[in-house]
Amino acid sequence: MTTPNRPGEFALIERFFKPLSRTTPFVRQGIGDDCAVLSPAADEELVLSVDTLVEGMHFPRHYAPAKLAVRSLAVCISDLAAAGAHPEAFTLALTAPELSESWLAEFSRVLAAEAERYGVSLVGGDTTRGPLTVSVQAIGCVPKGCALTRRAAQSGDDVYITGTTGDAAAGLAILQGNVKLENDLMADYLLQRFNKPQPRVQFGQALVGLANSVIDVSDGLLADLSHITRQSQVAAEIQLDAVPFSEALRSLPNQADALHYALAGGEDFELCFTAPAGLAPDIHKLAQRLAVPCTRIGSIVAGEGVRCIDAAGQEVLVENKGYDHFPQ
Ligand SMILES: [Mg+2]
Repeated sequence: MTTPNRPGEFALIERFFKPLSRTTPFVRQGIGDDCAVLSPAADEELVLSVDTLVEGMHFPRHYAPAKLAVRSLAVCISDLAAAGAHPEAFTLALTAPELSESWLAEFSRVLAAEAERYGVSLVGGDTTRGPLTVSVQAIGCVPKGCALTRRAAQSGDDVYITGTTGDAAAGLAILQGNVKLENDLMADYLLQRFNKPQPRVQFGQALVGLANSVIDVSDGLLADLSHITRQSQVAAEIQLDAVPFSEALRSLPNQADALHYALAGGEDFELCFTAPAGLAPDIHKLAQRLAVPCTRIGSIVAGEGVRCIDAAGQEVLVENKGYDHFPQ
């Protein structure tokens, strides 16, 4: 933490964030110097990803610091999962209108617990004054040449999704008061899916050698799958009736909303991946071994774009393929 806002804040940062810095075989130097010094194993390479969460844009105003800590680390760790990497470390840039001791205490307490769960050490960061914004850079390692990417889907691949999709978007809609659910249990489930994303870290690592391409669903299933098809120069056909809905999503009063969230909602941090059709038994076994639900939702074919096919085999045009922060 290098640029405290005013005297006294440096002490707060030392107190709240320094304990999250651990020395490991990978982390030679963590917090406390100008730079972190990292040392990947000789047969591995580094994988990096940064994500920024802005108040009012990615999380509501007055969002609990504990929830913000969970989300800010999870969204970034999820990118490592999509690369098949194992998480090792992270950096944190925190911008806040003021650094309140109670806010920092709660944020750092939960961040420490989450960092422990993922086995990552905080190796550096920065604080500045401004609208509440959290940037986390996650740092992981993957065996040399094995990082999973978006650009190697092959015609004939199956398309899969882990877990269910659309839950987090429905949870955010509930949080924002745009959707009301009578059943509290279902509403809580959807809120939890927004507040506590569970990146598929182990599953992503296990996809190395099986999957041809992988992306984590952050902008919406169709939008993220279209990144795979564009970068792999192929097309995808999605069977709409195969897309897995949670029971809670099915319980939404408006099923058109549910379908919209499932296809375009994003923020679920599930893995969407493609694998050769012949590996279907291996994917099935992997899903069972790790107890991660995994559903085949379509195929990769020649061409371009993502097409949605209904139960009758007809193409359905789906508008709004995902969230675009900078629409043209
Ligand atoms: Mg991603």
